Amino acid sequence: MIRPRRTESAEFDVAVIGGGVVGLAAAALLGGLGLRVAAVEAGAAAPPPAPGDHDLRVYAVTCASARLLAHAGAWEEVERRRRGCFRRMEVWDAHSRGRICFDSTALAEPTLGYIVEQRVLCDALGARLRQLPEVTVMRPASLQSWESVAECLEVTLQEGRRISARLLVGADGAASRVRTLAGIGYERHGYNQEAVVCNVRTERPHGDTAFQRFLSQGPLAFLPLDDAHKSSIVWSTSPAHARRLLALDPEDFGSELANAFEQRLGRVLEVGQRAAFELARARAERYVLPRVALAGDAAHSIHPLAGQGANLGLLDAATLAEVVGQAVAAGMDIGAIRTLRRYERWRTGENRLMQTTMDGFKHLFGSELKTVRWLRGAGLSLTDRCEPAKEMIMRLAMGLSGDLPAAARVRTIC
Ligand SMILES: Cc1cc2nc3c(=O)[nH]c(=O)nc-3n(C[C@H](O)[C@H](O)[C@H](O)COP(=O)(O)OP(=O)(O)OC[C@H]3O[C@@H](n4cnc5c(N)ncnc54)[C@H](O)[C@@H]3O)c2cc1C
Repeated sequence: MIRPRRTESAEFDVAVIGGGVVGLAAAALLGGLGLRVAAVEAGAAAPPPAPGDHDLRVYAVTCASARLLAHAGAWEEVERRRRGCFRRMEVWDAHSRGRICFDSTALAEPTLGYIVEQRVLCDALGARLRQLPEVTVMRPASLQSWESVAECLEVTLQEGRRISARLLVGADGAASRVRTLAGIGYERHGYNQEAVVCNVRTERPHGDTAFQRFLSQGPLAFLPLDDAHKSSIVWSTSPAHARRLLALDPEDFGSELANAFEQRLGRVLEVGQRAAFELARARAERYVLPRVALAGDAAHSIHPLAGQGANLGLLDAATLAEVVGQAVAAGMDIGAIRTLRRYERWRTGENRLMQTTMDGFKHLFGSELKTVRWLRGAGLSLTDRCEPAKEMIMRLAMGLSGDLPAAARVRTIC
C-alpha cells in the first residue's frame, strides 16, 4: 500500500494557539527567552482603524499588567496610544447609603490603572513579535488537531500546514479548541446577565475617576477616557434589559444611562456604537497536560465587574514564561508535566481566589434582602473609613497582591 506522503512540518519549541491579548503576550515573553515560537491566530489581521474610530472593548489594565507588558517589550507603544488612566475610584450602592472612594495618592502611586483599547494591546504586542526573530506569526491559521510523536506534538492547521512543537499553549479563548481536543473538562455558569458597552460623552468631566454604581440588576461602570468628558461604560444587566437598551435610540439610551448613574456626570450628551456580551463564570478542570497548557479565557472567565479577566490572563502568560524559562535554564523538558504543574499550581489558586471574590461581590450587591442591603451599605461606609482595608483593596485592584510572577513584580512604570 502506498501511504500518502506527509508534508514536512516546521519545527518550533512552542506553538501558541490564539492571538488575543493573552496569546500574543505569551508568544512575546516566550520568544524573549530565545525559544522558537509559532504564534497561530485564526482571524485575519484587521485593517488599521480610521482616525477617531475607537474599539468598543476598552480594558482597565492593572499596574501588574503594565509592568509585564513592559517586560514583554510592548508597553512603550501601549503607553503612547492608551486612552487614559484613573487616579480615583468611586463605588456606591443604589439601595443603601454605602459609598467608598479610593485615591492612588494614599499609596503614593501616580495611578490606580490604565484604560486601553483591546486593539491597542494586540497591536503593540503584535509589533513586538515582529521584532523577535525567533517568533513566526501565522495568521489567518487555525488549529485543527494534533498528535503526539516522540517528544513533540505534530500540529495540523486548518489549511493543511503542519508544525511541530514541544509545548502547545492554548490561549484560544472561552470556546478553546485546544481545551476540547485535550479532553479537559470545563465548568461554566452563566450569570443570566449581559454587559452593554459603549463610549459616551458627558456634561461634566470625569476627573480621571473610574465609577461603579451597583444596581439591583448588576453594576454600571464608567471608565474615564483621555478626553475629560468621555467615558467607556460597561452596564451589566438582565438579558431582556440589555436587548431593550440596545434597541433604544441614542437620546433615550443616554437619558436612561444618566438616570441609572444618578446624573453623577450630568447629562449624557453623545452615545457611541453599542454592543452586548453574555457574562459567565467558567473554569477548566485543569490547566495542563503533558505538552499542553491553557492560559487566559481558555482556562477561566470571570465577571467583568472589577475588570480583571484579561489582567489574570496576562499573569498566566508571564507565569508560564517564567516557569518555562526556569526549565530551559535547568536543562529540563519545557513540555514535561513536572514543569507545567508548577504553572498550574501557581495560577489556579490565584485565579480561583479572584473568581470567588468577584462572585461574592456580585451576589452581595445583587441581593434585594433588606438586611443584606443594610449590611452592605454599612460595610461600604465602614471600609471607607478604614485606610488599611482600603489599601488592601486598592492593591488587589492594581493587581499587586498575591503571588506575582517576576515580570509583574519588578517596579518599572508603576
Ligand atoms: C464586557 C466586558 C468587559 C471586560 N472588561 C475587562 C477589563 O476592563 N479588564 C480586563 O482585564 N478584562 C476585561 N474583560 C475580559 C477580557 O475581555 C477577556 O478576559 C480577554 O479578552 C481574554 O483574552 P484571551 O486572549 O484569553 O482570549 P480572546 O480575547 O478570546 O482571544 C482568543 C483568540 O484565539 C483565537 N482562536 C480561537 N480559536 C482558534 C483556533 N482554533 N486556532 C487559532 N486561533 C484561535 C481567536 O480568534 C482569538 O483571537 C472584559 C470582558 C467583557 C465581556
